[in-house]
Amino acid sequence: MYLVLLGAPGAGKGTQASAIVAKWGWVHVASGDLLRNEVAKGTELGIKAKTYMEKGALVPDALVIEMILKRLVNPDTLKGVMLDGFPRTLTQAEALDKALTEQNKKIDWALYINVPAEILVTRISGRWICSQCQTPYHAVSAPPKTAGICDKCGGKLYQRSDDTEATVRERLKVYFAQTSPLLDYYRKKRNLIEVNGDQDIGKVTEDVIEELGKVQ
Ligand code: ADP
Ligand code: ADP
Ligand code: ZN
Repeated sequence: MYLVLLGAPGAGKGTQASAIVAKWGWVHVASGDLLRNEVAKGTELGIKAKTYMEKGALVPDALVIEMILKRLVNPDTLKGVMLDGFPRTLTQAEALDKALTEQNKKIDWALYINVPAEILVTRISGRWICSQCQTPYHAVSAPPKTAGICDKCGGKLYQRSDDTEATVRERLKVYFAQTSPLLDYYRKKRNLIEVNGDQDIGKVTEDVIEELGKVQ
């Protein structure tokens, strides 16, 4: 099973990812997490990616495609893969399809978490992330039990340096210009599933599991 999670920044992709992969035993491959890891380690890719990420721009396709295709040859992906944050451009979607076709595989479903644009800034500006397991929290809608500490692993929570209002607005512009066309790309292939992401976190999870359950 190859599943792509689609939705604007702040739609709740990372939040829903853990419940989905826990239910079906897939691996969660999040391009943003992989890139932040490269930046933290100071690798050649990390140094190149950082300048784009800080501005809220997309990292060039060639760099991200190479990083993801390398990740997808890891044997843990045999269990099934949930891609989060990739593809983000038509070029990336086509490169992914091409690489999978060569291995007799394909994207089975694209799951779109639909959230009205006006609430995305509030979601992202209140976001806190676990420095160890990357679980997202929210100051108001999803606070941790103990302030500043991850419920799941005890890791310290931090705010991403690109989750400022100016950068978020830029990322949303980029999303509507470059990523939202992917909805039609997958719709035309008849493998787009849509859920309403503007509900309580638990209700969104229920809807996601119900919709994916229908196609298992
Ligand atoms: P994405 O991975 O799509 O960028 P996240 O999963 O990180 O989004 O969620 C963005 C922020 O919104 C986080 O702070 C998260 O706790 C919060 N959030 C996620 N889903 C919901 C929801 N259904 N209702 C309210 N807040 C949510
Ligand atoms: P969010 O879901 O909150 O937008 P991500 O963690 O997915 O954030 O991505 C953070 C940043 O990493 C993006 O703003 C972009 O600079 C870079 N990035 C992540 N995935 C991709 C991708 N597939 N293509 C290009 N850049 C990416
Ligand atoms: Zn954690």
